[in-house]
Parts: sequence; C-alpha cells; structure tokens
Amino acid sequence: MGDKLSRVALVSGGSRGIGRAAVLRLAQDGHDVAFCYRSDADAAQALEKEASELGVRVLAVRADVTDAQAVRGLAERTEDELGPIDVVVTSAGITSDNPLLLMTDEQWHNVLDINLDGVYHVCRAAIFAMMKRKSGCVINVSSVAGVYGNARQTNYSASKAGIIGFTKALAKEAGPYGIRANVVAPGFIDTDMTSTLQGGVKDRALKSIPLGRMGRADEVADLIAYLASDRAAYITGSVFQIDGGITI
Ligand code: NAP
Repeated sequence: MGDKLSRVALVSGGSRGIGRAAVLRLAQDGHDVAFCYRSDADAAQALEKEASELGVRVLAVRADVTDAQAVRGLAERTEDELGPIDVVVTSAGITSDNPLLLMTDEQWHNVLDINLDGVYHVCRAAIFAMMKRKSGCVINVSSVAGVYGNARQTNYSASKAGIIGFTKALAKEAGPYGIRANVVAPGFIDTDMTSTLQGGVKDRALKSIPLGRMGRADEVADLIAYLASDRAAYITGSVFQIDGGITI
C-alpha cells in the first residue's frame, strides 16, 4: 500500500530534539508540516528553512501548549494555510526532577500542564475536523518513565503514564471514525533534555542499556513516520518503546 503524498502534519514542540527530527522526517516523506514551539524562535526559524528546502510547505508558530486558545489558533492556521490536518504528533515536553519529598507544587503543575494538558489541548484542537473527515492519526510522545516510573520523576512519570491512558481511550473513541492513535515511548535519547543530566546519572544509564548507547532523535522520528504512514494502517492504541533495551 503506497503512502498518499501531500498529507499535512502538525507537530507540537517541533523546534528542537525529537519533535524537530519528526518535522524533518515527515517533510522528507512529503508532508506539509506545521509545528509549534514555546520560546526558541531562532531554532524554529532555522528548522522552517531547512524543512522547506525539502520541497514541502512548512509553518512555524509560536504557541505554548498549555494555552488552549493559542493551540486552537495553531490548528486553525494550519488548516487555513496548509489544509486539513492528517497527522498529529505531540512532542512538546519538559522535565523538572526532584524526589517527591522535595517536589514543589510549581514543579508538579508545570510538568503536568505542559506534558499532559498540552497533549489534551493539541489533540482536542485537531480531533473534530479529523472525525468529520473520518481519517487521521495521532502519535503522542510518552516515555519509558510513563510505563515503569523513574525515581525523582513522579511528576514526569505521572504525566507520561497519563498520555498512555489518554491515547488508549482516544484510540477506542476515534477508531470508528477511521482515526488511529498510538504512543511512542523513548528511553534515553540524545537531545537538549538529556544533555543537562549529570555525568554520574548518564554513566549509570548507559551501563544499563544493552545496546550500549543513547538513542538518536532521528531514530525516534523514523518510528513516528512509520506510525504516520499507511504501512501502520492496522495499528492503534499501542505503545512502542524505543529504548535500546534499557527496560528489559
Ligand atoms: P527538547 O530537546 O528539550 O525539546 C523540547 C521541545 O518542546 C522544544 O521544541 C520546546 O520548544 C518544546 N516545548 C517545551 N515546552 C513547550 C510548551 N509549553 N509549548 C510548546 N512547546 C514547548 O526535548 P526532547 O528530548 O526532544 O523531548 C521531546 C519529547 O520526548 C518530550 O515529550 C519528552 O518528554 C519525550 N522524551 C524524551 C526523551 C529523551 O531522552 N530526550 C525520553 C523519553 C521521552 P522551545 O525550545 O521553544 O522551548
């Protein structure tokens, strides 16, 4: 089954890391791509240029995923300027680690607001038009922390587990409308998010990865692109770990 060309994809948190790699990979596959970011306008502009050079239309929009109205505006602009949204990828996310004993309310709410409410806002803004057209697919980026839990990350693990429950419920709800929803759950991926980890934490993590290295953002993007394609037409409600075996 060949992929239909000229699909439109919307990627949250597209300016850096895994989201950035997904923008480029989806553009390579012929998608027109809109992506949002929160603050790093230089990174967003550079990506807009790089992805447009692949011969597709690219739209970078500053929109904080915690702001429902801004996200609705992002979806509307995407539909107006690029056309109906076929693929939604939610990659915007942060960490703010602390043992529960020291966790501040601000850390808790910040992580839940961006990582979980953000996914809700993006999917909520896109779902009605997809249901009307009876097609579409959603790929939400969770984490192995959402499946197994990570010490010092109760906030992050809860947000990422929430994404898995959300996506499974959405797969049941939207499946009858021809919409698929899946989760990608990465392990340690080499991005800005993990570059701040202290040496000791990184060394311990590397020792527990059977493949002996961190993953690359483009490897996660390959999985996202596969799930966005017609080759994954019978896959919905699934969680795909991409972690070099760290969870075995
Ligand atoms: P990253 O390199 O830090 O990039 C995060 C991206 O999200 C940036 O484009 C950032 O935009 C955007 N973003 C953050 N807060 C936002 C907000 N409120 N509204 C809109 N955009 C926002 O992170 P990453 O490593 O690529 O992570 C991407 C996703 O993968 C996250 O959901 C993360 O939890 C998940 N993940 C990552 C790893 C890993 O090892 N890296 C492992 C498992 C899961 P600005 O630059 O403008 O702030």
